Amino acid sequence: MIKVRGYAARDDHSPLTPFEFERRNPGPQDVRIEILYAGICHSDLHQARNHWSNSVYPMVPGHEIVGRVVEVGAQVKRFKVGDIAGVGCMVDSCRECSACAEDLEQYCEKGMTPTYNGKERNSDQSTFGGYSEQIVVAERYVVTVPKSLDLKAVAPLFCAGITTYSPLRHWKVGKGQKVGVIGLGGLGHMGIKFAKALGAEVTMITTSVDKGKDARRLGADEVLLSQDGSQMAAASRKFDFLLNTIPVGHDMNPYVGLLKRDRTMVLVGALTALEPPLMGYMLMDGRRSIAGSGIGGMAETQEMIDFCAEHGIVSDVEMMPIQSVNEAYERLLKNDVRYRFVIDMASLKAA
Ligand code: NAP
Ligand code: ZN
Ligand code: ZN
Repeated sequence: MIKVRGYAARDDHSPLTPFEFERRNPGPQDVRIEILYAGICHSDLHQARNHWSNSVYPMVPGHEIVGRVVEVGAQVKRFKVGDIAGVGCMVDSCRECSACAEDLEQYCEKGMTPTYNGKERNSDQSTFGGYSEQIVVAERYVVTVPKSLDLKAVAPLFCAGITTYSPLRHWKVGKGQKVGVIGLGGLGHMGIKFAKALGAEVTMITTSVDKGKDARRLGADEVLLSQDGSQMAAASRKFDFLLNTIPVGHDMNPYVGLLKRDRTMVLVGALTALEPPLMGYMLMDGRRSIAGSGIGGMAETQEMIDFCAEHGIVSDVEMMPIQSVNEAYERLLKNDVRYRFVIDMASLKAA
């Protein structure tokens, strides 16, 4: 076993603190990665604080991981020592079910293995995430990162990036379409960049009056203030596609009203109950749909990274040392992030 240092949540309310734990030695199909950067996703906060009622402690969060390959197993084909590699929200799946066979490992019928807050497939060992020095992952769940990209700004692509890219591709968003991205945070800012790069006309739909300038800099053509009733009424039946990244339960009725006939709003934010109730009429009027989408499969994650390299897309990041992770969580709760916190893992070595 390999001894690794990281930061862990010990319960649902105390600050994260230094934690030492063990990872497996790399097997024939494994890649061992020295972690350079780890993004802080709102899901890390949700799970550290047990918002989804499934947290197991101690928990080392982090599923937006970029690092350098330091060891490869004998059967590893795509990586060699020194390569730059990325790991996202899953580190394994059954590899046999129809979802896995169709490169949709995130929807594995036997349940994918999350990068943290889960168990390894063939042992009782907990999975521990990216707020740590190193990680060992089977090659299939590791993505090749082109060295041309700014690596610290690449980390968030492994969750915020793929979670927004995948539905935009699945619902074939492109030229001639009006797309609304709801919520300008980690996911939302990537949603704008991807929708724009795919050729759509993009509107940022936000609760924050002061984010309009940023939204335009990120590529939005228009900004719609969701709290402003007259702006919302004027945008009724305007959109071909809505990407909803709001992290908590919220009233979806006003957003559904923004869709054209036969169009879809995809939820990628709130995982828990969506209160208050949705009026059935809002779907019947215009045969509208609400759908959900979870991260993306491994092949699509590689495709997304390659798309980013081609279009020069990365995340807008604020770097921080791991010692400030608790402060980052507080700021995330206050909607005070522009637009992703990323931990420089060198700070862990320096400690
Ligand atoms: P984030 O950086 O905190 O951004 C969320 C944004 O939503 C905020 O910046 C804010 O934007 C808006 N918002 C926040 N609270 C709101 C409220 N009460 N009502 C309306 N709007 C609100 O979070 P994130 O990292 O992007 O994550 C967003 C959600 O996606 C989280 O719940 C996370 O767990 C989930 N997630 C899901 C997947 C998946 O596979 N489906 C993957 C990753 C993350 P404005 O200021 O512009 O309004
Ligand atoms: Zn995430
Ligand atoms: Zn499977």
